Amino acid sequence: MSELIEAQLTWNGSGFVKGLRVSIGDAGRILAVGSEAQLPGAARELPGRALMPGLVNAHSHAFQRGLRGQGERFPFGAGSFWSWREAMYGLVDEMDPESMHALSLRAFREMLAAGFTSVGEFHYLHHAGDDRGWDLDAAVLAAAKEAGIRIVLLQAYYETGGIEQPLLGAQVRFGSKGPAEYWTAMDRLAPQLDLPTQSLGCVIHSIRAAGLESLRAVHAESKARGLVCHMHLEEQPLEIEDCMAAYARTPMGVLLSELDLDERFCAVHCTHTDAGEMRFYLERGANVCICPLTEANLGDGIADLNGFWSAASKGTQLSIGSDSNARISAVEELRLFEYGQRLKHQGRGQCLDAEGQVAAGLLKVGTAGGARALGLEAGKLEAGHWADLVCLDLAANCLEGWEADTLLESWIFGAGNEAIAEVCVGGRWVR
Ligand SMILES: [Zn+2]
Repeated sequence: MSELIEAQLTWNGSGFVKGLRVSIGDAGRILAVGSEAQLPGAARELPGRALMPGLVNAHSHAFQRGLRGQGERFPFGAGSFWSWREAMYGLVDEMDPESMHALSLRAFREMLAAGFTSVGEFHYLHHAGDDRGWDLDAAVLAAAKEAGIRIVLLQAYYETGGIEQPLLGAQVRFGSKGPAEYWTAMDRLAPQLDLPTQSLGCVIHSIRAAGLESLRAVHAESKARGLVCHMHLEEQPLEIEDCMAAYARTPMGVLLSELDLDERFCAVHCTHTDAGEMRFYLERGANVCICPLTEANLGDGIADLNGFWSAASKGTQLSIGSDSNARISAVEELRLFEYGQRLKHQGRGQCLDAEGQVAAGLLKVGTAGGARALGLEAGKLEAGHWADLVCLDLAANCLEGWEADTLLESWIFGAGNEAIAEVCVGGRWVR
């Protein structure tokens, strides 16, 4: 597996440059990055390629790939997140280990083709029937291994069907009886992991899905185990209204008052989060994952990054996710991340880094930000990090006329998945 490579251009953290080599060790990690003088010897050259860190998909529900093209007609009037959720529950009723494996494999292969080298699979559909068999979990791990993608299986805790409501219908297949049963299922998964490309993370599905006592207990145990902990948060105004009615606080308010948050926590969406609460949240070091294509498809709204982009991006606390997988494209997620803010604030260059660049900051969100949210040593071309790499095809039609200085902008604002050529996960070239 060990090799020394030199692409025509390589991302050095702030720009694409010539003459940079990457040395990959047997264990699948980057040993060193440097010039020919620093890393002498015969390198495998990659002409016509621009090498960069692989993209990190910090939030996915792979099986929802089965809904692609479905639910896009609205015979009964305007659709909503909630009408989409009914369609998703319909799919849930049909899922068994075979279909879970097949749909996950399809999604994971498509992610690799789109330049995603790792995925945080927010997995809440555990049981194929009503018997709490947890038999769908292993199917996801097997599909990830077969595809060759790095996975953090974010295993979801799901106890209630709404605040203090029982699980109903399809939701029964998501259920955990309590934290003890949940952690037992987690312990059963640990020996099934294909190390080193598979690891586990913790999830509390949403404020709808866990009472406060369970929320505190599951989060505390995830911290004790050193696991990342993710949660859907404030994607829909109704979630905030229900939470206000039950707890007299927003969901973010509940997190801030009930949990000892840190850099291992990640709130997904935050579409309608109050700016002041967001500031307190980010000060704790916690992460926010935005899923621009899914939030657009579902008509959720656009998170207002104006108030916190600069604070959050400096600490790499923002990431992207393909969520419903209605479309899988890292570059389109990054583009819409910025374009959503342009449309909202009627101005260009909303997500700027310290040098006034947009594209470099977005790439950081798509790489190091995702790695931070998933607790992975990835997302940077640096010694010690996983050799999770992507090559852009400099001969791709959509990049024609490229210049090294603006190549990243050409890709993010003008290209699609067809610009992705080779993909390497943990030192293994999977495409
Ligand atoms: Zn989600």
